[in-house]
Amino acid sequence: MKKKVYSGIRATGRLHLGNYLGAVKGMLELQDEYECVFSVVDLHAITTPYDKEKLAEATRSVILDYLAAGLDPEKCLIEVQSLVPEHMELAYYLSTVYPVSRLEDLPTYKDKKAQHAQYVNMGLLYYPVLMAADIMLYKAELVPVGIDQEPHIEVTREIARKFNSMFGETFPEPKRFWTEGGYVPSLTGEGKMSKSVEGSFLNLTDDLETIKAKLAKVPTDSGQMGGQIPQVGGVANLFTLMYLLGGKDLHHKYVIDYKDKKIRYSDMKAELADAIYKEVQPIQEKRKYYEDNPEVVDKILIEHTDRCRAQAQLVIREVKSKMGFINL
Ligand code: ADP
Repeated sequence: MKKKVYSGIRATGRLHLGNYLGAVKGMLELQDEYECVFSVVDLHAITTPYDKEKLAEATRSVILDYLAAGLDPEKCLIEVQSLVPEHMELAYYLSTVYPVSRLEDLPTYKDKKAQHAQYVNMGLLYYPVLMAADIMLYKAELVPVGIDQEPHIEVTREIARKFNSMFGETFPEPKRFWTEGGYVPSLTGEGKMSKSVEGSFLNLTDDLETIKAKLAKVPTDSGQMGGQIPQVGGVANLFTLMYLLGGKDLHHKYVIDYKDKKIRYSDMKAELADAIYKEVQPIQEKRKYYEDNPEVVDKILIEHTDRCRAQAQLVIREVKSKMGFINL
């Protein structure tokens, strides 16, 4: 039996380089060898303030980015979470084996609570349980996601363990699949690149001019510091992006320049912009094809939804039977 893989991205806007390097690259690596389901998790997108006029479009946009980045519908299944309602059903069963106090302690919940103080809803607290259900619905063992999701994967393992101990061996304990870009830093110099932080991200759909304009805003220093590259801030983040996208040689060249107090950030940013554009340009061309042929995308989604639901219903039946529900 092939190992199962699951991952999802929220329907909150176009994909950025963090999503691509931290999650999508892992998906691409795994789709050749494993049985994969990759999702647009629109049910998660509504736990923070959102625009109902734009949700469906944002969901489509992630599907287009997935296909454009190279997810192959012949090799993996692509689903929209809300079209597979078994996610919600499983989440409810799982929620009954997990303590509320543990959810309240999670860093992602605390962050979101602080960010949207007027919008602290049950769904936000329930997010990690739904995410555990997302993964467990397909009995996935590997989850290609960024470092920020590690606490949620830990919750999933705890829920799987608890369920197995209460109702018998049912679910594997999943692991995060690591990629080199598991933490892509923000262009602002603080924190990670994120769709929800304005000015922090580069999109896969950005053209060269946009990339250059966004990089121009990354805060730097005088170039006369010398010594070690800083660990945090704009300069640190530029070097990380250079390592991930420009490659080790270019990165090394600029490390030497920094040490020798010869660094010219305008050159570094120009070379980095070219390297990024080289990576995203083929993705943009492929995206254009899917934008122009929405019927191709619809056909994939309709077929894949059916296949996902067929798999999911088997697991729901097994879970209900193990939990002792009536069976007609
Ligand atoms: P965002 O935080 O930008 O809204 P999501 O929460 O939808 O993104 O995350 C989708 C996937 O992208 C997850 O696997 C997440 O770990 C990954 N990811 C998001 N931001 C980054 C980042 N800056 N670096 C690496 N991976 C990231």
